[in-house]
Amino acid sequence: MIPTIDYIQACFDEYNVRYFNGSLPPIPIKLSNARTFLGKVTFIKHRTWLFGEWRYSNFKLRINTRYDLPEELLHDTILHEMIHYYIAVNHLRDTSTHGQLFRREMKRINEQGNRHITISYRLTKLLQLKELSRNPAPAKVDAAR
Ligand SMILES: [Zn+2]
Repeated sequence: MIPTIDYIQACFDEYNVRYFNGSLPPIPIKLSNARTFLGKVTFIKHRTWLFGEWRYSNFKLRINTRYDLPEELLHDTILHEMIHYYIAVNHLRDTSTHGQLFRREMKRINEQGNRHITISYRLTKLLQLKELSRNPAPAKVDAAR
């Protein structure tokens, strides 16, 4: 399925209550046409002048609408991004992008909700094939007009 912003918002609100005790602050949701990711949390990172601490601002949750994903995968993608958001918004330190903390949260939600969140993009191939079938190579355009 290809979600709307309202649909993603409803998922976010439900999962926020169910898996994060409603602790995640609201985040603007954007639809993305990117080829390279299914979901992404973006934000601006800057040091405060006085104490040199990192501050994060301008959070956005971006969900891909280029690909027609199975509903389960879409939900798991939203949850995957919510874990990134949880870590960033709480300034938690992880060992890497999908480090020990991320994996611990992923395991917790997978067990609690019988979900299948992953950190791999084994679907890349499948998506590329879908992409090709949906957007066949463009017909040659005559540039000599
Ligand atoms: Zn990730």
